Amino acid sequence: MDKNTSAKHRRFGDHTPWYAMSADQAMSCLETGKEGLSGNETEKRLHEFGPNVLSAAKPRSALVRFILQFNNVLIYVLLISAVITGILGHWVDTGVIAGVVLINAIIGYIQEGKAENALKAIRKMLSLEAIVIRNGQRMSIPGEDVVPGDIVAFAPGDRIPADIRLIDENGLAVDEAALTGESQPVSKHTGTVPPDTPLADRFNMVYSGTLVTQGTALGVVVATGDATEFGRIGKMIGRVGEVTTPLLRRIAVFGRWLTVGILAVTVFTFLVGTVIQGYGIADMFLMCVALAVSAIPEGLPAVMTITLALGVQRMARLNAIVRKLPAVETLGSVTVICSDKTGTLTRNEMTVQTVVTAGRTFKVTGTGYAPTAEFRLDRHVIEPSACPELEEIIRAAVLCNDAVLQERDGQWTVVGDPTEGALLTLGMKAGLDPDRLRNGRSRLSTIPFESEYRFMATLNTDGEGHKYLFVKGAPETVIERCQSERTGNGGQRPIDRTCWHRRIREIAADGQRTLAVAMKKMPDEATETGFGDIGEGLVMLGVIGIIDPPRDESLLAVNQCHHAGIVVKMITGDHVETARAIGERLNIGIGKPAVTGAELEKMDDTTLRRTVKEADIFARTSPEHKLRLVEALQADGEVTAMTGDGVNDAPALKRADVGLAMGVKGTEAAKEAASIVLADDNFSTIAGAVREGRRIYDNLQKGILFLLPTNGGLSLVVIVAVLLDFALPLTSKQILWINMVTATTLCLALTFERPEANVMDRPPRVPDAPPLTLYMVWRIVFTSCILMLAALLLFDWELKNGGNLRLARTVAAATIVVGQIAYLFNCRFLKASSLTTRVFSGNRSIYVAIGILAILQLIYTYVPWFQEIFDTASPGVRDWILILVMGVASFLVIELDKAGERWLSRRNGRPDF
Ligand code: ATP
Repeated sequence: MDKNTSAKHRRFGDHTPWYAMSADQAMSCLETGKEGLSGNETEKRLHEFGPNVLSAAKPRSALVRFILQFNNVLIYVLLISAVITGILGHWVDTGVIAGVVLINAIIGYIQEGKAENALKAIRKMLSLEAIVIRNGQRMSIPGEDVVPGDIVAFAPGDRIPADIRLIDENGLAVDEAALTGESQPVSKHTGTVPPDTPLADRFNMVYSGTLVTQGTALGVVVATGDATEFGRIGKMIGRVGEVTTPLLRRIAVFGRWLTVGILAVTVFTFLVGTVIQGYGIADMFLMCVALAVSAIPEGLPAVMTITLALGVQRMARLNAIVRKLPAVETLGSVTVICSDKTGTLTRNEMTVQTVVTAGRTFKVTGTGYAPTAEFRLDRHVIEPSACPELEEIIRAAVLCNDAVLQERDGQWTVVGDPTEGALLTLGMKAGLDPDRLRNGRSRLSTIPFESEYRFMATLNTDGEGHKYLFVKGAPETVIERCQSERTGNGGQRPIDRTCWHRRIREIAADGQRTLAVAMKKMPDEATETGFGDIGEGLVMLGVIGIIDPPRDESLLAVNQCHHAGIVVKMITGDHVETARAIGERLNIGIGKPAVTGAELEKMDDTTLRRTVKEADIFARTSPEHKLRLVEALQADGEVTAMTGDGVNDAPALKRADVGLAMGVKGTEAAKEAASIVLADDNFSTIAGAVREGRRIYDNLQKGILFLLPTNGGLSLVVIVAVLLDFALPLTSKQILWINMVTATTLCLALTFERPEANVMDRPPRVPDAPPLTLYMVWRIVFTSCILMLAALLLFDWELKNGGNLRLARTVAAATIVVGQIAYLFNCRFLKASSLTTRVFSGNRSIYVAIGILAILQLIYTYVPWFQEIFDTASPGVRDWILILVMGVASFLVIELDKAGERWLSRRNGRPDF
């Protein structure tokens, strides 16, 4: 029995399972009631039962994590080399190789820890919130503060924060796949079930970690943290995955093949050296060890991991929280972004501007939620109380409404749906007091708003025993269900649907979101309402037009996406004319057809594929349409990013190549299905994330492009020396020094590179394109040759001009190190010219790395103890001048190569970057 369960039994002293008790019994057993716990009691319980979190799976011990750093084919080769040099009695070489392996393991260990911590911190930003009732007040608290006895409320899309016995329920269905594997949502009720009922059939319980798909409910928490069913089966939610992406996995496979290739070349060189050139076996062996260690890019995995972790951290700072790492790479290939309108492209700050009744059109002034404004009719200011039909529609809109307005320091904010908040403000502008109105006409029943059917209805009394049904929703839906319309004198006449539709189009064309309001007198004995009541006898009261201005930054972000070869499509539940008007202000879908959800439904898959290419605006859509749209786009080879917030958006978010969930208004279900969560719900964050994704991919490529030529250059030096039969220009120790110390130090600086100037001017990267393009392979080979030539030239020059072998080798090593520094500047821009002053700015870590490297290289070259270990000698000023000249020359030659590639790209019409 675990700690929490025993605590429960100790404290509440009952062994009957919660599901076998009535809801009241469960509450009294937990010493709580519908008003919830008091503040003091929750604190006590939090202390007693601990936070509502699952204990982390036992982490691997530090020693095991450290040892695992050696589990790499590249490292095996180095370890074997160390053993063999030891057997041959070359202890210094053995020591240096062992040292390099150790340093590599330490760097890997630290980086891995840092990367994992960074991701853990990011995951924490997504921690769960729960709505609880405490002291009779509804409040939102962090999921980990939930305690046994808390009363929790939940709605569609919520993740259940603990194990809960239901006490009240309204059409609740829960997806329990995470716990039971059952993929169909399970309906719940509040009755009791026998004590031996298996978990999957306990219909009055909901369990931690499962998701609400439908309905609302209230329940009492019976177990938290490890005492929950989820905790018992030892599963972990949101566990930090491996720090990897498809590119990194491909690089790891590439690393393994590279090792095989290196071993083959090494054996070949050994055979040529011993059989053809006649070197002694021991000498030749040492050379081959040098060759093997020179070719292995030991630093590559560490550089790749840190680039990714830093990038993901930066994206979190830009409000894009990455849940699934591969999305970082996919972002760079995105060709279409399908975005919601309300709150993503627009501000979600709603203000009513127009109220249309059967005979008249009223204008309302003011912005935001502050309830100060005037009503105008034909440009004349009027008193709303003088127009009964205006008052009636406003009253209905306030009653059929769940939002609350709050004023703090003169600032008015909405708790709840902003559309409903705007209606409350309208009510207050008309002189109504929403609380008094709601108290006087209490609500008996509700059909909550859902994007699928686009209306909300409430059944209210009028305080004198009469019952009224109020409906508000998308005009098309409401008008269809109305038989009559309210006239100015309080009477009614048959509805003129054509006239209403014309007037709605007029308001919508102005970019206003439209909402129709209707009512119906119900029998006095009615206590419940359902969909059946909405079908007949409704009286149309009028239409309300609400403005929701586009965010200032949206237009810029949309234009950036267009430049980057990404098509932006708007998918909205609003009227097609509203969508078109907003689209026009945001440069979306101008001059193109706009399609409605109803039209989409009639299309077969082939027509849809064609339409989805032509149209950028999809209006009056529901969440299922999103899934069809993603599928149609993907069938055409588009890499699609899709935004979503509701529980029904989850399938489309999962299906999209990059699913983007809203962090503020999104449900847990949407967040869980998405690969990225937008902490600020803002479209411009998507454009920022694409930019960052492209930067990360660039930096990964830059890392490879920088590191591999170092290995290539060094191994070529050894191979050429063996084949042409002259003294080895670098010993294995010296090669290891360059390879590990200098190359990795410099390369880490590249991980901080900012996005290149043209990063958002290029078309999206072709998905599944090999990480090494043909040009990159060429560049690696070409640069390897340049580094090799530079080292050999100065080595030879030094020998011919009176230097000894020690000095010549020191000069050769320095040439390669300086060559690398020069090459670092070449690599700052993948293809763009580095012959610009920008090459010296924008990344201070480059200078830190060069500074550290210069100090290390001077120590290596001049400090006697190091001279002893590494067999180095002290070069003079003349040598250094030659080395520097060689560095500058190699920089210029590589720039020439880049210019050639740019020219070729332009000629062949390939993207120029
Ligand atoms: P987007 O997909 O751009 O975010 P949306 O989420 O605003 O659009 P919905 O919320 O589905 O789309 O709204 C669609 C329509 O439903 C609105 O145009 C409005 O007519 C109506 N509507 C919106 N909110 C409510 C509400 N709270 N009560 C009644 N009707 C509403």
